[in-house]
Order: sequence, then C-alpha cells, then structure tokens
Amino acid sequence: MDIGLLSVSMNVYSTKRIAEEAERAGHYIEQIDHTKCSVKLGSQKPKIYFKEEDITHDFDAIVPRIGTKVTRHGIAIVKQFEMNGVFSTARSLSIARARNKVRTLQIMDRKGIPVPQTLFSINPDNIKEQIEILGGTPVIIKIQEGTQGMGVILAETKKSAKSIIDTFYKMDTSILLQEYIEECNGEDIRIIVVGHKIVASMKRTSELGEFRSNVHRGGITESVKLSAKEQFIALNAAKYLGLGVAGVDLIRSKRGPLLIEVNASPGLQGIEAATGINVAGEIIKFVEKNARRKRK
Ligand code: ADP
Repeated sequence: MDIGLLSVSMNVYSTKRIAEEAERAGHYIEQIDHTKCSVKLGSQKPKIYFKEEDITHDFDAIVPRIGTKVTRHGIAIVKQFEMNGVFSTARSLSIARARNKVRTLQIMDRKGIPVPQTLFSINPDNIKEQIEILGGTPVIIKIQEGTQGMGVILAETKKSAKSIIDTFYKMDTSILLQEYIEECNGEDIRIIVVGHKIVASMKRTSELGEFRSNVHRGGITESVKLSAKEQFIALNAAKYLGLGVAGVDLIRSKRGPLLIEVNASPGLQGIEAATGINVAGEIIKFVEKNARRKRK
C-alpha cells in the first residue's frame, strides 16, 4: 500500500514510529509536509500538490498528524484527500471537532458522556456571576484551542479568576471555565483508541506542586488498568467524534471518570514507553484493514 503521512517533520517520535512500522509491514510511506501542500480547484478534477508535484493519486491512505499551528490548512488538505476517495485515519471534520475543547464537550455532553461542569461565555459584564453559576472558586480557565497543558490555569480566588477571565475576554481569546476536580490529585488517564479498540492506556501524574499532568509539563507516566466505565467512555468518545485514532483524556473524580478532551493526533512516545505497546503498529494495521477496501 502507498501511505501519505501528513506531518510537518520527520524529526518527531510519532511520525518516525509510524513510518517505521509501515515500512516493516512492507508498505511505501512518504512524509508529506501539509504546510507545503496546495489544492487546485475549478478545472475538471481537484488536484493536490506537494510543492509543485501532483500527488492527487499517489496514496491509498493518509495518516494525518496535524499539529496545533496549521490546523485549518491541514484540515483542508485532509478534506481534499477524503473528497478524492482516499482513506484517512482521521476525517477532517473529526480533527476540527477534537481541536476545539468546547465543541468536543458539547458533543460529549449531548451523548451522555460525563464531563466536568463547564461554562463558556464571552461576556465581560458578569464574570462574577459566571463563576458563581459554575459553583465558585477554585476554577479552571482553559484556552479553547490550547494544548500540552499550555493555556490551562487554576485560579484559586474570585479576584484572580475575575482578572484572568477579563483579560482573555478583552483579548478576544476563546476560553472555557471549568470546575476544578481537586481529588484527581494532578493525575489524568490517557487512553489510545484505534479502530473501535482500546490499544493502550496510561496514567500521567504531575510534578509536585503542579495540577497539570501533561508529559510536556513534566508529568510521569505509568501503565494503568481501566474500569469498564472508562473503557466505555473512551470507545464512545472516539466514535462520537468519528476518529479512527484517538487519544482520550479522562480525570478520575468523586462522581466517576470525566472526559476532559480528545486528541486526534495523540503523541506516541509517552504511551509506548509507559506500556511497551506498539501503538504505531496498531495504527498501520488499522490502515491495512480499511484502506484496502477503497483501493481501486
Ligand atoms: P491540554 O489540551 O492543554 O492538555 P487539558 O484540558 O487536557 O489541556 O488539561 C491539561 C491538564 O490539566 C490535564 O491533563 C489535567 O491533568 C489537568 N486538568 C484539566 N482540567 C482539569 C479540571 N477540570 N480539574 C483538575 N485538573 C484538570
């Protein structure tokens, strides 16, 4: 099979691992920097270019690893491959949904997946009341499109919460307010779902004095056993967002597991190291199962 790996760099652990596993399975895989791709519309057939090279018909499948910086263009490129009938491990719509925390939580809440109490607003006139509606401080303030724990703030007092929220509203930065789940003790659970199956899961524990457990914030990882409810949430979250490959993040609260976000391009380094599971290999198997059917 010929696989296009949409990623800005080959110098990333996850990209390297996916390429390695594809080659091991005998496939041709090519890294395509989607920021160097363009699409031409308006002639008989839409064409996709990598730099000047026409790659419209080069791949049986694509594996998008769309980062946080060029999401919009990346999604448009994925969409074009999709429209041309190429199998993608993540649909463009699903990437867009997962990219925005509010959009993800809206979908999850409607489907009955438990999420922390969350409020979003852009109104600077009644911030105090917004905090009260949510149940008071401490409160978590999150940038809607933040990642790796950047843009997640814990405000302990009403005074500090108010000034932080006010600043974001005035800067036109979309945020959400969330109840602080203190009892999770700076721990969260990352679950990797590939093709309706849980392939790996780990617990991330934050550094002392830090409530965010992201690996990029110094969190440490270990393999973890999931409860039936946690498995249910992870499998359904991926399904509701329409993601073939997903990293589902949960926190354990007094009232059970709560979904906090879903990642459409989950990092593989932490999870492979913590569990010893070949997650990249699972992604390639998923491609093999699905892309062959589409191949003309
Ligand atoms: P990012 O996308 O930047 O990783 P998250 O929403 O996943 O943002 O939050 C980062 C980390 O902060 C989580 O992994 C978790 O450890 C912690 N966290 C997030 N939301 C809450 C919350 N409501 N209560 C307590 N801790 C939280």
